Amino acid sequence: MKIGVLALQGDFDAHRRRIEELGAEVVLVKKPEQLDGIDGLVIPGGESSTFLKLLGEEGFAKLRDYVRVKPVFGTCAGAILLAAEVENPKQAGLGALDITIRRNAYGRQLDSSIREGHLGKDPIEMVFIRAPKIERIGEGVEVVATEGCDPVMVRKGKTLAATFHPELSDDPKVHQYFLDLVANGRHAR
Ligand code: GLN
Repeated sequence: MKIGVLALQGDFDAHRRRIEELGAEVVLVKKPEQLDGIDGLVIPGGESSTFLKLLGEEGFAKLRDYVRVKPVFGTCAGAILLAAEVENPKQAGLGALDITIRRNAYGRQLDSSIREGHLGKDPIEMVFIRAPKIERIGEGVEVVATEGCDPVMVRKGKTLAATFHPELSDDPKVHQYFLDLVANGRHAR
């Protein structure tokens, strides 16, 4: 299984390490054409507005086509990119998930924090860094993980988005969840 990690900026290397530890091959994606031939893609955290700038029109269009048909996991800024609607301020989203997401939603005081949330029923450590908040969930979007009352990881079909940084915790469960999604998608095809 070959997993791409978008490597334009942000903390892509921690994702690479985790995915390799779990036994998949990783391609660091820096050019649009590298999207061809990978089974799934991780869009890491970073700064979503900077991602948009670095992608440019051509990169954005190619990525939008990719996320429609292939498994994708966006974390933090990556989750913002996957959303249909982005607030604070409004910016373009790839529209892969029918959610509204608010950037930097926890304010300065909570710029970054480590909290305990739940993946299904299991407690799991969650690292939040200038995290966005999922404010609206469209039809058919499933809440996979919560922190307090907030949905922090959601999925529809093969598209997964988390507002926290699973690559910064030791627990590999979240990445394993995504790899299972990619593997199941492959088997179904
Ligand atoms: N605040 C960033 C944004 O709005 C996301 C932060 C992150 O990815 N850790 O894009």
